[in-house]
Amino acid sequence: MNFFCSLFGHTWVAHTAAPQPRWNTTKDGVVLVPSDPPTHADAAAVRYFDRCQRCGSEREAPRPAVDQRAASS
Ligand SMILES: [Zn+2]
Repeated sequence: MNFFCSLFGHTWVAHTAAPQPRWNTTKDGVVLVPSDPPTHADAAAVRYFDRCQRCGSEREAPRPAVDQRAASS
């Protein structure tokens, strides 16, 4: 743990990590198409976490209330 983190505590900043679509071209090599189009299940795979701005340690964060409504419908 960072010395200043032990003095003042961690400085948590909210982050998200979402699964990314993979991009490929069509056979003529002109048009980009996502090979894994984002589905409704991918919305549940979004990871919410807090990261300390100083030392980089992470902790899991609860899903925001707005997103809970979107995931349930
Ligand atoms: Zn820290």
